[in-house]
Amino acid sequence: MTYVLPVPTPPSLPVSGGGTLFPVRRVFCVGRNYGDHAREMGADPNREPPFFFLKPADAVFAPRPAASGDARPVVPYPPQTADLHHEVELVVALGKGGAAIDPADALDAVWGYGVGVDLTRRDLQSEAKNLRRPWDLAKGFDFSGPCSPLSPVGDGVHPDRGRIWLSVDGSPRQEGDLADQIWAVPEIIAHLSRSVTLQPGDLIFTGTPAGVGALTRGSTVMAGIDGVAELSFTIE
Ligand code: MN
Repeated sequence: MTYVLPVPTPPSLPVSGGGTLFPVRRVFCVGRNYGDHAREMGADPNREPPFFFLKPADAVFAPRPAASGDARPVVPYPPQTADLHHEVELVVALGKGGAAIDPADALDAVWGYGVGVDLTRRDLQSEAKNLRRPWDLAKGFDFSGPCSPLSPVGDGVHPDRGRIWLSVDGSPRQEGDLADQIWAVPEIIAHLSRSVTLQPGDLIFTGTPAGVGALTRGSTVMAGIDGVAELSFTIE
């Protein structure tokens, strides 16, 4: 059998160091995984198990310099919002899959890590919450998941602490520590794998610390996780 349309190239992220690509299969995101961010969104961080939403796989991309030769990587300001928010997050890239994974075995599924920004049309999300409708188009729009190149796990060392931060135009906006995650990476993988069979190529955005806020056209974002990765881009 042949396909009736050209088969698209799978979404991918570059691997740090260059030369190879990580094929992205699905993009799962954790809601409210740092207590201070849960509180700033009006929720009680102590009463909720982790919950998940998804972005389309092709929403994730590594920002690249514009074709004009301008050296700044750019991310387009999306349509249908007047309140585009940044959420810096540790991104976990899975190299193995599985269902009902035991937390003690979960890190064996991890291929590597990066830092990403869960861009959010906050006005659409608030409206969806108020109307008890899905969040999908508040979270899963084109270019909604800018991400750094991914680094493979080295020497079995998995980041479970370290500063996670984001600045806009040089001003600090978000600051936290991976150690402050309510649900650590093994627990997230174990929990998610009880709802879906995870697959190689799946990404997990693991939630954001406090300090989320608005971006406008021209905002320059710098974000990072100490010892893991950094990312920068300008909203255009
Ligand atoms: Mn998020």
